[in-house]
Amino acid sequence: MRSKKIVSVVVSGALALSLTAPYSTYANGEIDKKISEIEEKINQSERKQKEIDQKLQDNKAKQEEERRTLSQLEADLEQTKSEIESLNRQIADTERELDQTEEELKEAEKRVAERDKLLRERVRLLYENGKVSYLEVLFQATSFQDFLSRFEAVRSVSERDKELLEENRRDREIIASHKKKMEEQLATLDDLKEKANEKRRILAQQEKEHQTKLAALQREAGHLETISEEEEKAVNDLIGQLAQAEAEKEEWQRQEAQRKQQEEKKQRQQKEGQKKREGKSGSSQSASPRARVSSTSSSAPQSSSSGFAWPVPGYKANSFFGMRWGRPHNGIDIAAPIGTPILAAADGKVIEARPSSGYGNIVVIYHGNGISTKYAHMTFSSITVKVGQHVKKGQQIASVGNEGRSTGPHLHFEVLKWNTPVDPMQYY
Ligand SMILES: [Zn+2]
Repeated sequence: MRSKKIVSVVVSGALALSLTAPYSTYANGEIDKKISEIEEKINQSERKQKEIDQKLQDNKAKQEEERRTLSQLEADLEQTKSEIESLNRQIADTERELDQTEEELKEAEKRVAERDKLLRERVRLLYENGKVSYLEVLFQATSFQDFLSRFEAVRSVSERDKELLEENRRDREIIASHKKKMEEQLATLDDLKEKANEKRRILAQQEKEHQTKLAALQREAGHLETISEEEEKAVNDLIGQLAQAEAEKEEWQRQEAQRKQQEEKKQRQQKEGQKKREGKSGSSQSASPRARVSSTSSSAPQSSSSGFAWPVPGYKANSFFGMRWGRPHNGIDIAAPIGTPILAAADGKVIEARPSSGYGNIVVIYHGNGISTKYAHMTFSSITVKVGQHVKKGQQIASVGNEGRSTGPHLHFEVLKWNTPVDPMQYY
């Protein structure tokens, strides 16, 4: 999966490269610099990703803790609620009992009052105003024995009333103390209920706080996951860029070696030609362009696998890459009538389409991996592509013209490797 990603990244990276960094700036040292820059970026990105992952782990642990706290709080809240319910029931029971005790106390007080009244009447009868009655009772005695028993009876009745009054008073005291206990119990219950309510309030507040914390952690986790994904994408992108830069470096080194080899070969050939000319004058100059075309194209079959399309089908090169009239010729010339279609040598992106003093007008197409092709001497109006446009191999981009320093209608065609012209024929 990762390699697939890299492939697509390499392709897009190649196109991005042509946009952001002109191929012309590339050289071996710059590729090395680019590679180490990309590697540094990858390291940074990976460090950042590690940090994010660590943060995510911490976050998840904190979330877990919050969830545990919350479920503990919920359990505590449930318990507190049932405590409050139980307290409410106890308060209701105590209040009922207190009402009942108050009723009982009233009854007891009534009984005490009644007994007190009765005793007072008897005592009055016996000792105070009772002298009359007492005497009456006694005088009515038929005998001394009767007198004694009458006296005793009156006395014992009042004694009994006194005892009952004492009993009633004790009753009343017991009930009063019970009432007091009930009142105290009720106060305690009210106090407990108040405390339980306070506890419930605090727990609810804590629950709210932890819910807020959890929500914040979840938001943070979402954010961290997003930037983690972005960072992963960035790393994949950079890995793709690195692979591309390394491939470019290899390719550059390969091309450099090849270029040097060919230069040496040409220098040898030139020396040999000079020796020949010295010995046998003019024979090499008489070789026709046609002969050179066939000999060159047949002498470079190892390069024909590049897959480049011939830019002006039906017409052959009549002038070649290398020193010409004492100056380097950076490409090949293909003579063809004005208006003959010029085709893109390969898929790529148009990076230049503009007038150029010596060449009249030029089109440059970048094909990736440091390779670009240049087409020259067309009329500006014949150019059918724009800068930034992607073109396909074999697509017409302009028509053959005779603009700039040109000795007749032809296409001047160059292949550039890191902006250094190379022999186009090695691609055919
Ligand atoms: Zn030319």
